[in-house]
Amino acid sequence: MENIIKEVKSGIKLPLMEAFYTIQGEGMHSGTAAYFIRLGGCDVGCVWCDVKESWDVSKWPEVDIEDIVDSALEYPGRLVVITGGEPLMHDLGPLTKLLKEKGFVTNIETSGVYPVTGEFDWICFSPKKFKKPHPSIYELADELKVVIYHQSDFAFAEKHAEKVKESCKKLLQPEWSKKDRMTEHIINYVKSSPNWKISLQTHKFMDIP
Ligand code: SF4
Repeated sequence: MENIIKEVKSGIKLPLMEAFYTIQGEGMHSGTAAYFIRLGGCDVGCVWCDVKESWDVSKWPEVDIEDIVDSALEYPGRLVVITGGEPLMHDLGPLTKLLKEKGFVTNIETSGVYPVTGEFDWICFSPKKFKKPHPSIYELADELKVVIYHQSDFAFAEKHAEKVKESCKKLLQPEWSKKDRMTEHIINYVKSSPNWKISLQTHKFMDIP
């Protein structure tokens, strides 16, 4: 047991909730085939979270990173998206090192509340109102993706946009359950503030898991 805890802490094993080959449905890589690695554990507590079952890290098996990477290698796509949960609760150094050695492009989706560990080609930072991001995320984020659930989220988005680097792409994405009400507001917002783009959860429209 002690050994397993050590391996988890060092990132040699990770709590794997699920892993699957699909199409990235949202953000700047939307439409690209990708292997998703969803890690368990999240303490951010978003009220509208659609993966609440991820929160309790103890529910998920600790899987050796070599097995995770071997499973990814079974598919032809070489883009990996690490998500959660909040994947940066874990040390992602060893996993991303191995993925890079095997020729994968590594992307992550994070709320930014923990410092980044690991080597990433693309960092999608999706800040949440429920827990403050770690300040180091702003200079690292390649994509700022803000979920719009309520009208006040536009001001929240701008607050974070002021802090990211110049090249960071800025995206607004309607929260799925509020999409009928918020999409029109988002369209109008982007038309008047064209430094933003719209991100849609196309995988949900297309019924892709
Ligand atoms: S950060 Fe993501 S996984 Fe965590 S509660 Fe929020 S939406 Fe859910």
